[in-house]
Amino acid sequence: MKLPFEIDLKDKVVVVTGAGGVLCSIFAEALSKTGAKIALLDINEEAAKINADKIAKDGGIAKGYACNVLSRESIEEAHKAILSDFGSCDILINGAGGNNPKATTDNEYFTPEDMGKMKTFFDLDKEGVEFVFNLNFLGTLLPTQVFAQDMLDKEDASIINVSSMNAYTPLTKIPAYSGAKAAISNFTQWLAVHFSKTNIRCNAIAPGFFVTKQNEKLLFNEDKTPTPRTEKILGSTPMGRFGKAEELIGALLFLVSKDASSFVNGIVIPVDGGFSAYSGV
Ligand code: NAD
Repeated sequence: MKLPFEIDLKDKVVVVTGAGGVLCSIFAEALSKTGAKIALLDINEEAAKINADKIAKDGGIAKGYACNVLSRESIEEAHKAILSDFGSCDILINGAGGNNPKATTDNEYFTPEDMGKMKTFFDLDKEGVEFVFNLNFLGTLLPTQVFAQDMLDKEDASIINVSSMNAYTPLTKIPAYSGAKAAISNFTQWLAVHFSKTNIRCNAIAPGFFVTKQNEKLLFNEDKTPTPRTEKILGSTPMGRFGKAEELIGALLFLVSKDASSFVNGIVIPVDGGFSAYSGV
């Protein structure tokens, strides 16, 4: 991977949650090119380790760790191991997140005829909704509680959260994910203010539409043909295509670089091919 521009994070320790996944493994790879030491955390330990090994093979410094972002104990265990392997955390990327089919309605619009025939708003599963809220919101708050403690006495530290287009205007069918990502944008501002008397900055990236494990079932049929939702998404994205994960890297490097963004705090950068700017007309 070639970075869009160079920044120097030599010897900084970067912790990336959800780094077994598509977007955050690219974040980890990109940040490894800046000279930083990368701790890749994921509930899927194998995926985190495979991605870390790829970075290490490519000459970077990286290690994978098992970590459930919903368990304070599990986060603290990973923290302990990272302290001993790499040292204290300078940059935290809160990337773990996702949706759940139990918190998704089958149809975009409600009609009474749907009752009993499909999953309507009235059938959304409480545990499914809780799962999505917890994974996205608590799964950002808890790792921040653990890793931001390392940052308190640093001259330069950064937290990057991952929001979504849903935070601006909710997408149909996925009320829990939409609400949880709106909470992430809100929490990003809250944290930026709360930590503003320290040297910790907190910002977020709101990706538009990128095909990954978490959304591929909504975007493509089993035979790989696009679903009607894909057609709607691309029709609402003025640039007319999905994003490529590498296209998030410029915003990420800008936000974690003190030289580039030392006075940027509490913002959410959309990287969306114009989706959030387009009214549909
Ligand atoms: P992904 O499914 O490829 O990656 C998510 C990773 O999080 C997976 O590796 C998964 O194992 C891990 N994870 C799930 N639960 C966890 C837990 N409890 N503890 C630790 N790790 C856990 O999806 P992605 O698209 O790469 O998602 C990365 C982030 O980007 C998410 O926060 C997602 O909501 C956000 N996002 C994605 C898109 C998109 O278009 N793909 C758009 C906007 C926002």
